[in-house]
Amino acid sequence: MVNTYIPFDFKEALEIKNLKNTFVFAGGTDLSVKHRPWSGTNLDFSKDIIFIGHLSELHEIKITNDDIFIGSCATFTEILNNINIPKYIKLPLYNIGSPSIRNIGTLGGNICNSSPAGDSLPMLYALDSELELCSIDGSRTIKIIDFITGPKENILKDNEILKNIKIPLKNFNSIYYKKIGQRKSNTITKTSIYALAVTDESHIKDVRIAFGAVSPTPIRSKQIESQINGIKKSDLTGIIDNIISQYEILINPIDDIRSTKEYRKKVSINLLKNFLLNLLT
Ligand SMILES: Cc1cc2nc3c(=O)[nH]c(=O)nc-3n(C[C@H](O)[C@H](O)[C@H](O)COP(=O)(O)OP(=O)(O)OC[C@H]3O[C@@H](n4cnc5c(N)ncnc54)[C@H](O)[C@@H]3O)c2cc1C
Repeated sequence: MVNTYIPFDFKEALEIKNLKNTFVFAGGTDLSVKHRPWSGTNLDFSKDIIFIGHLSELHEIKITNDDIFIGSCATFTEILNNINIPKYIKLPLYNIGSPSIRNIGTLGGNICNSSPAGDSLPMLYALDSELELCSIDGSRTIKIIDFITGPKENILKDNEILKNIKIPLKNFNSIYYKKIGQRKSNTITKTSIYALAVTDESHIKDVRIAFGAVSPTPIRSKQIESQINGIKKSDLTGIIDNIISQYEILINPIDDIRSTKEYRKKVSINLLKNFLLNLLT
């Protein structure tokens, strides 16, 4: 028999998580798909469940001069409705699922599900986001790039719950996001790019480029970005082919029911080229 736990507060959630081997259930939009054997049948969980989606501490959104802190159970709708969150953070979230999925799906769930196609992830990678993981023993802060280790794999320990996502704030004037799917909404990503830069009349600075759904984890290479950072716009054309060839090595998609690896790679490179050429204007 499967037990369900509905903790009173986050502290109690951590205590239960420490004692019981449980699935953490936030919005349940991923878990419900994974644990429903067939459409129309009941959910079938192999271990106990702890609900956390109702915990108000996990819905808090705090903004300081330098950072935004988003509680792991903030839903996409809550984030999109928050007028203090910049548009460049919201951009990929508008495209997640449908209104009903955005109303219950959470940012923390998207991160902890750790799918290469998770649509918040390229944005969180590009913005150097950090995660606060808590257990009854205390908390640790991990960069998102170090958190996800493979498709649906991460370093969360059995007794830990993701509490907060910290996103450093910065002014970018070049913002580029494209999600390619089978249709416009309620679609799983075939490939996506989330890219940012600060440009002035002559120079390109602070370039960040991240891809989703084209390798076992989202992709970001600070090493390649450093070759673009600080250069004159007039010098970019001369290095574009070299930059693209370096990303061609990193972009390693798979064939699946949604797309082919050739299509995914070709489109990803075209989008990258488009972003880089936009920097010239
Ligand atoms: C019809 C449909 C359309 C969708 N469309 C998209 C889409 O366009 N883009 C996209 O990226 N995703 C999409 N999804 C997937 C899903 O909605 C998102 O990944 C969502 O963010 C998951 O959040 P959740 O709160 O529902 O997670 P849950 O299902 O509750 O949990 C997901 C996983 O994370 C773990 N978890 C959740 N919260 C925490 C926490 N705080 N600490 C530790 N572990 C935690 C759970 O144990 C589970 O393993 C779609 C899903 C459906 C059903």
